[in-house]
Amino acid sequence: MTVLAGFWATRSLVKPKLNPAIDRQTRVGGREPSQNLDEKPGCLNRAFGQISHKLRHRLRENLPVQTQKNLHNHRQVIDSFGLSPDPMLLVTESGIFIDANDSFCELTGYKYEEIIGQQDLDVKIWENLEEREEIKKILQLVEVVRNQEIHYRKKSGLVGTALVSAKRLEWDGKWCLLVVAKDISDRMAEISHCQRAEAEIQMLLTINQAINEAKDFHQALGVVLRSVCETTGWHYGEAWVPSSDGTALECSPSWYCQRSSLPPEVIKAIVSFRTYSEALVFLPNEELPGRVWYRGQPQWVLDFSTDIEDSDIFLRADMAKRCGMNGAFGVPIFARPSHTTIDYQSSQTSNSPVKLLAVLVFFMLESRPEDEEYVNLVATVTAELGIVIQQKQGSAELRALFAAMTDIIVALDNQGCYVKIAPTNPEKTYRPVPNLIGKSLYEVFERQQADMFLKYLRQAMSTQQPVHFDYRLTVQGEEFWFASSMAPISEESALWVSRDVSDAARAQAALKKANQQLELLANLDGLTEVANRRRFDEYLSQNWQKMKEESSPLSLILCDVDYFKCYNDKYGHQAGDDCLKQIAKAINNAVSNGKNLVARYGGEEFAVILPATNMNGALAVAAAIRRKVALLNMLHEDSQVSPYVTLSMGVASLIPDGTSSAEQLILQADNALYKAKQQGRNRVC
Ligand code: GH3
Ligand code: MG
Ligand code: MG
Repeated sequence: MTVLAGFWATRSLVKPKLNPAIDRQTRVGGREPSQNLDEKPGCLNRAFGQISHKLRHRLRENLPVQTQKNLHNHRQVIDSFGLSPDPMLLVTESGIFIDANDSFCELTGYKYEEIIGQQDLDVKIWENLEEREEIKKILQLVEVVRNQEIHYRKKSGLVGTALVSAKRLEWDGKWCLLVVAKDISDRMAEISHCQRAEAEIQMLLTINQAINEAKDFHQALGVVLRSVCETTGWHYGEAWVPSSDGTALECSPSWYCQRSSLPPEVIKAIVSFRTYSEALVFLPNEELPGRVWYRGQPQWVLDFSTDIEDSDIFLRADMAKRCGMNGAFGVPIFARPSHTTIDYQSSQTSNSPVKLLAVLVFFMLESRPEDEEYVNLVATVTAELGIVIQQKQGSAELRALFAAMTDIIVALDNQGCYVKIAPTNPEKTYRPVPNLIGKSLYEVFERQQADMFLKYLRQAMSTQQPVHFDYRLTVQGEEFWFASSMAPISEESALWVSRDVSDAARAQAALKKANQQLELLANLDGLTEVANRRRFDEYLSQNWQKMKEESSPLSLILCDVDYFKCYNDKYGHQAGDDCLKQIAKAINNAVSNGKNLVARYGGEEFAVILPATNMNGALAVAAAIRRKVALLNMLHEDSQVSPYVTLSMGVASLIPDGTSSAEQLILQADNALYKAKQQGRNRVC
């Protein structure tokens, strides 16, 4: 389709005249040329086939006889001019368009009149002059160029790709070139599209894998910067991340520079650019990162000096230009896929689901026009990255959560088999082992316990409601208590969460014991360690009620030490205390039945409550008390009734009913005691 200008001149110098060898050849191999084209218009018409009328006219009017002969020899070639669906062109050696077929005009968008008589360089049909030079070189060596790939520029400015074949042929005593082109723009676009798609997939795969392997967010960003630079040919990539309070963007430690494709002085300049950038912080809409953040969409900067609407915005423009960088591209990464514009204000509100993870900024040395495909590619990758990073952060949070949890969390299927075990961190020996997966509850616990768990599992599955229960487990001889819940996940599985409450249970048990002791202490007399008066009152009341219900007798013995004041006076108060202690023990020994309560009733008075005991039983107990006290043989020289310590006792017994009261019983016992004192002491009444 296109041919070559300066080159033709060169060729003309090399071969200024008709090549006799070729001329001879055509004469030998070709048919007899027509002597007069005008005389054979049909032949001419046939020969020219569908050649445009203009060429036909020119040939008729202007071509010398010799050329007309040659033309006959090239009839086949010329025939194809009009017939060929492929673009064809005839140019002089100096690059002047002699003729072009309709296909050529259609392909390039030029009208016939616009190019015929023009030179190829003036028409600006070459996208790449180096390709023109290449063809020129080949044609200097051989007569034919075959399927040379070239890029051409259409009238519209669009660039296409074609395979060009050209053959030198003699025309009007000069050497011309017949050029046949095959447009492969669509194919190339398809290939390029496929390559892009492949690169995109490759990039996504690499990035996904690398992000999964990356230790942290910044390392993942570094992977993306490198992959994007390597795929797009951009030279320097940096990342900006929100500050901890979310009000500004800070420079991430991750960056990438395409060192392999850059001269050392540029790399050095980029490194200082980088060092300078590290100290910067950008507010929303400030500089390129802030602008991308604020707008929530990618931004392409064609040229720093011309493309920035507000020159103050890109604070680093001068420095970037000194590094040789002219174009830039910024793209946001959001914590959810974002194909739509994200409003900065809404992304700032705490309840907004959109969260900026980072802004990536790439620089390129040359100022490139916005490349939609690259924008889309990087936007796709970053959207994907947002999801992956989010997942990574999510799973990291989940891992941290699990690591911080001391509960045991397992998923069971509806048959009671272990499906999953969460990586929680129970501290004790009952830590579940990973090889439990697939095992049944019956392989893990004793039958009775497994039965219980399965019962709760079935209950949770059938009701589709959580079930809460506690259980106890003995592990390596140590007992543990668990508070546990089984919650259905689906109809097939349930989550079983068990919390070790052993410490709490142990503490509770200890507390219970302490409370019991406290209660005991609260009910005991400090000196004699038998029940105190408070306990006496309580016990009497309880048993009064009980005996009333049972219609059983309730008896009471009141004991009083005889002449105890004298004892104190004689032996001292301390000795008096010791005496009281021994009497209390003696009474206790005499009262064998656990239901009977011995209490210190007053200073030197004791009482015994005897439930379900009638008067005879009570008298027997009183007699036993007397004996036990007598056996103590405690000297009481100032007692007027005995040389030893003795007791006087009053016994009363009642079957409680609606007409009587506990006070009555006490009164009767007191009266009986009084009587015993009156009758001379050391006796039971
Ligand atoms: P009676 O035979 O009539 O009962 O004569 P008593 O001296 O035992 O009777 P009284 O009521 O006159 O005296 C009781 C004495 O018991 C007075 C008091 O000092 C003594 N007493 C009371 N509580 C205690 C105590 O806790 N320790 C000592 N050592 N003595 C006590
Ligand atoms: Mg007394
Ligand atoms: Mg007394």
